[in-house]
Amino acid sequence: MANRRITKAERERVDKILTLLDEYYTTEYKCYLNHETPWQLLIATILSAQCTDERVNLVTKDLFKKYKTLEDFAGADLKELEKDIHSTGFYHNKAKNIIECAKTLVTEYGGVVPKEIDKLTGLAGVGRKTANVIRGNIYHEPSIVVDTHVKRISGKLGFTKAEDPEKIEFELMDLLPKDHWILYNLQIIAHGRSICTARNPKCTECFLYDLCKWKGKS
Ligand code: SF4
Repeated sequence: MANRRITKAERERVDKILTLLDEYYTTEYKCYLNHETPWQLLIATILSAQCTDERVNLVTKDLFKKYKTLEDFAGADLKELEKDIHSTGFYHNKAKNIIECAKTLVTEYGGVVPKEIDKLTGLAGVGRKTANVIRGNIYHEPSIVVDTHVKRISGKLGFTKAEDPEKIEFELMDLLPKDHWILYNLQIIAHGRSICTARNPKCTECFLYDLCKWKGKS
């Protein structure tokens, strides 16, 4: 989709940023949403829209004890499930989508979460972000998850000027080496939580200060 021209200097700047991210944060794959099975991660990711991972983990702790299988979710009572996930917000849509998604997984995929992006995005409540969480975490397929941290910080770093998450994803795929696609999201989440916070980025303490293109850095 993007295929933009990237200069040698820009490539070097990107490489330096990635090297520093590797040094300061994890180079191991980890998932911030607790789960024991692929379908649990899918449901947790649907719940994580407009909600913190901490809140989702609190909710799924009880939810996955109550609904032990995909069939349990497929046969769930809508109103009851809405109550169960109420505190994650947008619970009407999330409950409806979770039930629909579980039904499709059971009837069309034999209970197995697919790995193909078009099959994943064909499931109720699953967009590219959720699909890429599954592809990266479950199947280790190089994929870039564009969440709120990746969107905000990629813009500040000058990696993209786009606002649309899908456009950002494709621009990042052009810019970043494939072996960093999964890691980039994990490292940027860590950076966004600790230093480059949404409200008050600590630019003067940031190890990326000299490489960052944000005009507002002080
Ligand atoms: S210099 Fe500031 S804006 Fe740039 S990455 Fe660091 S904290 Fe974020």
